[in-house]
Amino acid sequence: MKNAIHPNYKPTTITCACGEVIHTSSTKENIKVEICSKCHPFFTGKQKLVDTGGRVDRFNRRFGMTK
Ligand SMILES: [Zn+2]
Repeated sequence: MKNAIHPNYKPTTITCACGEVIHTSSTKENIKVEICSKCHPFFTGKQKLVDTGGRVDRFNRRFGMTK
């Protein structure tokens, strides 16, 4: 019963394509991912924010919505 309740977790590392290495525990070893919290646009987002701001500004100027 113990084995059924507690799977065989062991220390492992998740390696991201950006080079980030996350130490965690898992039933799998040496996990590789293409995106992590360090490089996901949702978490980095800065470039996207700047980009969106520029577009809004251009839109407002084109349609005379800026004062
Ligand atoms: Zn990453």
